[in-house]
Amino acid sequence: MTAPTDRLVATGKTPEPKPQDPGYHPDPPVLSFKAFGIAVEFDEDYVIVAGHHTVRRFVAAANRVARVDLGLSNLWDDRSATYADVVEGIRSVWAVRLIKCTCTPERCCDDLHDRDPDPEAWWITWSRNGVPFDRDTHGARPYMIGSW
Ligand SMILES: [Zn+2]
Repeated sequence: MTAPTDRLVATGKTPEPKPQDPGYHPDPPVLSFKAFGIAVEFDEDYVIVAGHHTVRRFVAAANRVARVDLGLSNLWDDRSATYADVVEGIRSVWAVRLIKCTCTPERCCDDLHDRDPDPEAWWITWSRNGVPFDRDTHGARPYMIGSW
């Protein structure tokens, strides 16, 4: 199991960021699923939940969505997966949603920009220039990220 990178994308129907928004995107992405009161989203490699929870609650919510909404046998679609396999790499982060880039076509000036926004998807990031965000980062919201 690989540790998550510091950027990810997930599908969702959140409205496209407005290019005039200064700095961080003010609207959090809408996550597609919910279990035990926790919003959950998946992309190809990662599971994302909104908020900071215990690892057990993260796993319980993600696992339930995998079984009930996605029709898998469990979060890993692998009945032999152990809890230790599961919790490896889960991390709590403070993240912001990327905003649409309005820099020159040749060069982007900010790694919080999305160069090619997809109206069907959104991105969040939890660091800028290698510096992780924290609770004091403007616009940052708590998420937990795990591989699946
Ligand atoms: Zn840019």
